[in-house]
This record gives sequence, C-alpha cells and structure tokens, in this order.
Amino acid sequence: MKHPVLLSLAAASVAASNVQVQHRQAASQSSPASRSSAAVSLTFTLASTNPTAVPLSSITATMATVPTIPLPSTPQAGASPTAVSGAPGLPDTSTINPANYPPLDKTPPVNSPEVQAWKKEVADSGIPIPDIPPTLPGGCPANLAAAQDTSRCWWTCGGCVRSTDISDCPDKKTWGLTFDDGPGFYTPNLLEYLDSAQLRATFFTVGSRCISNPKGLQLEYLNGHQVAGHTWSHPALTTLTNDEIIAELGWTRKVMKDVLGVTPNVMRPPYGDADDRVRAIARALGMYLVMWTRLSPSATFDTDDFNVHSGMTTSAQVLNNWNSILGNASTMDHGFIVLQHDLFQETVDIATGYILPDAMKQGLQIKPVVSCLNKPMSDAYTETNDNKTNPPPVSATTVATLTAGAPGSAQATGATSKNGAIPNVAFVPSTVLVGSAMAMLFAVSSL
Ligand SMILES: [Zn+2]
Repeated sequence: MKHPVLLSLAAASVAASNVQVQHRQAASQSSPASRSSAAVSLTFTLASTNPTAVPLSSITATMATVPTIPLPSTPQAGASPTAVSGAPGLPDTSTINPANYPPLDKTPPVNSPEVQAWKKEVADSGIPIPDIPPTLPGGCPANLAAAQDTSRCWWTCGGCVRSTDISDCPDKKTWGLTFDDGPGFYTPNLLEYLDSAQLRATFFTVGSRCISNPKGLQLEYLNGHQVAGHTWSHPALTTLTNDEIIAELGWTRKVMKDVLGVTPNVMRPPYGDADDRVRAIARALGMYLVMWTRLSPSATFDTDDFNVHSGMTTSAQVLNNWNSILGNASTMDHGFIVLQHDLFQETVDIATGYILPDAMKQGLQIKPVVSCLNKPMSDAYTETNDNKTNPPPVSATTVATLTAGAPGSAQATGATSKNGAIPNVAFVPSTVLVGSAMAMLFAVSSL
C-alpha cells in the first residue's frame, strides 16, 4: 500500500497466525444481537492481517479522514480489458456530459424520451410484469400484508429468492467477492490492494457515481473486475412505481454502456429490496439479480461494514460478523456471496486490512461473481456474451418465510425508506425475533 498512513501504522493488536476453526464455528452460532456501537472485541483470531493495515481500533466513525489517492492508473480511450473476450475499446470519457443525464442521486423523471423508450422495451420484451403495488416506505413493519404475501417473493421480508436470482457460488470454499455503492473516493485504495493481491471482484456501481467518477468505473472494468449496476440513485426498488424502476435501471444501464462500451447483464437491488415485480422489470431490461447469501434470518452474509461510518456498529463487530459468515459457510456444500462496500474509508480499510488477508490465508477461492459461476468474464456483458444468454442462476432454492428485521434484510440494512431517509423503526411487530429487532434498531441508516 502506498498510502502514508497505511504504511506508518501496524495492526499489532490483532495480528495472529493460527486459524481457529473450532472457535469460528462456535462464534457462528452466537446471536447477531450484539451489533451495537458499544465496545466490542473480537471473538476469534484472524488467520492473517495486512501488515500495513490501519489498527482496528482506529477504524471508527470518527476516524480522521485520510487524503484520497489517485487511481493506480488512468484508463485510455480505446483500451479494452484482456479479461473480456471480444470487448470493444473504451469510450472517451470526455464525451460524458452530466447535463445529458438526470440529476444525481434522485430517481430520474419518467417522462423523458429515454424512459419512454425503455418502457416500450419492457412492454415489447413479452415478460409479464406482475401487478404488485409498490410497498410503503418502512419495510416489513409498514407493509404487514405484503410481507406475509409469499406469492410476491419479497426478499426483504423473509429472504425469498427465485431460481433466476444469483445468491450463491456453486463450489465450496469459493467466495463471490462484491463491493457496492462506488466508485467512491477510496475505491482507488481498494483497487490498488486487489491488484497487489491479484484478486478480482464484482463491483455493483451506482449510476450517479459512474457520472461522478467514470475513470474509476473504467479502471475497475479494465483491470479485470466485473462491473454491474446498482441503480441510479440507490432507492428501495419495491417502493417505486414500474416507471420509476425502469428509469432507475435504464439510466444506470445507459451510463455504464456510455462509459464502458458494454452493458452489464446483472444488477444488485439496493438493500436487497426486490420482489417479483422488480425481478420482472430487471429481466425485461436484460438483467438478472445478484443478491448475497442468506441461510436464515440470523445467517445472512452481510458484514454490516456500511454501518461503521455512521457509528451504528464497530469495525470489531464487522469482523465478528465476517467470522460468523465463515462459520456458516463451513456448513454449506457450496460457495457464497457476501455484502461489502467500497464507498467509505472504513469499509475499504476493513476489507484490505483484515477480511481479505484472512480469507486468502484460509485458502478461499476469491472471484468475481461471474467467475464463481464458472463462466467467462465475457458472459457478464450483453455485447460480449457470445451465446446471448445471461449467467444462469445457481441458486434454485426458493424460500419464503416471514421474519422482519433479519440482519441483512431491508430493515437491518435500512432499506425501509425511499431515497435514503432514516426510516421509522418504532413499529416493530411483536413477532419479530429479539435479535432481529436489535439489529433493526442498531442499523437503520445504511445504504
Ligand atoms: Zn448499496
């Protein structure tokens, strides 16, 4: 790592070498209710840490903001990624004029010619869009009837997935590495680390951030990472009308095509908030959903790293969550996908300093999602997918159980309001598990 702060600080407090498998498995059964901003210590021993990691105790909501670093290299127009067979050359980003796109970080207007064209595309796709009304802001507690309506397969309230959703990797000890919400100010630090460790990931990027940082998006793609959409303004998609969902997905797809020259064929719904209406619209626009692994309400593969920045959780608790994820993964006969973010200094520091070194030391196969599905990178984009099919689903299990506020659910991750407002968490139904309610109360403002 070239960053002076990272170079000058060591992680002596947690540096250790012995893998504590038994300890990990025991910790995996502990309650997630301990997610709080109170003092938390590690419940296990990391197999490895980065010698240049920021000390864990320093990775807090109040940590000093370190200067950002430039991108490790600057993508040039015309370059194409060697990892994507048949890829066209990169467009010239100087042609990307923000004035030609909707305002950033707001659901785009639905009356534009572009959205009208995408509405026709959806209608012409032949894919029926279920007549499911938008949900109210507030998630499961504010939508009790919808939450109990298993026919809509609302992931937020029970973790329902369809066979078309990708939420696992097929091979045991294989990790589909993902980072959401960028490209951000600290994405260069992450890209630099991933390069040095020879790791590749899937980045679910927000369309507005792609406008802000097109070179960052290009470098992710050029360096062999998979890039995919994460909406234009990061709303909870089930709260939107059909036209608004089309606008969110359409503009994200367009900016990524304009910046990269290719169109991703998967996307991740913010907060994991999707039902059959969202699935159908995404599919009609050429995209499947990538979620994160969820075994049960208390076993979602969400590090909760996002909430360190707000002080809702601690970096030590994030690592304890990581430890639980590994314990749960050890019980599975297939691989997994984890929720992490590259938006904040804290989330990048935890990933590069601790989680990724630990995972590598443990011998996990760390890959982009399309690679963990044993597909070539060219299958990740419409233009280079030579058989014109999208990556097939790996998760064929449909589960539909009602549990609000599970870690990783829209409640726990704050997907209970439109456009990022703090949701009201006072209306917790009596059926909610105590641990889940605690998670809800302590994690209400993440993206
Ligand atoms: Zn997100």
